Amino acid sequence: MSNLKYGIMGGTFNPIHNAHIRMAEEVRDILDLDKIIFIPTGTPPHKNNLNIDALDRYEMTKLAISGNDKFEVSDIEVLNKGVSYTVETVGKLKEFYPNVEFYFITGADSILDIYKWKNPEKLLSLCKFVSVKRPNYSDDLEAKIKEIVDKFGGEILLVDGPLLNISSTEIRERVREGRPIYDFVPQKVADYIKENKLYIKWI
Ligand code: NAP
Repeated sequence: MSNLKYGIMGGTFNPIHNAHIRMAEEVRDILDLDKIIFIPTGTPPHKNNLNIDALDRYEMTKLAISGNDKFEVSDIEVLNKGVSYTVETVGKLKEFYPNVEFYFITGADSILDIYKWKNPEKLLSLCKFVSVKRPNYSDDLEAKIKEIVDKFGGEILLVDGPLLNISSTEIRERVREGRPIYDFVPQKVADYIKENKLYIKWI
């Protein structure tokens, strides 16, 4: 029986930014995880008009984590032609790594949307959740998390995050307006966005 613990950092990553990387680092450190698998969404159930190729989001994720041997990126959702549901993705990972304990990492507020996700009960039986506090998180977050666990079971850990006020939406707006994004994303990601002329026409 292995004692390995892997984090899963799922995200639209449109684009991936420094807060994503920092929160993954923080969680890996706090929970002493063996590695973190970044999983860019293919066609996510909750955002259906992304206007960007999933492979571009995947490439940017690969560039953002390059050089960190505790980080890995998976194309499991990007290569899936249909809609990717987290419960199915984590189910596949559990089949592939039956003895690994998985921790799905989310922002503090996005965990509150889990009621709308596919089969939350099964998902919470497959992995633990780690909810990372971010700037302006809800005051009653702990109570709301308790309600989720009371309803669906499982375990949701609440951890302090890096509190970086960065959002993918702001980055896309800055690119469109021709403003710099070097403080927001790793240099290689900024270069990729520029070279591939991403986010110029639409946000
Ligand atoms: P995202 O916008 O790319 O963000 C990825 C994660 O980083 C989110 O948990 C987000 O939390 C967090 N984050 C972003 N900026 C942050 C900051 N400055 N500080 C701290 N945390 C920050 O990804 P997403 O679109 O929310 O999707 C997240 C995952 O949920 C994906 O794997 C997706 O497939 C999954 N999901 C699944 C279903 C389903 O199965 N039905 C439905 C919806 C989402 P916040 O959301 O709090 O910003």
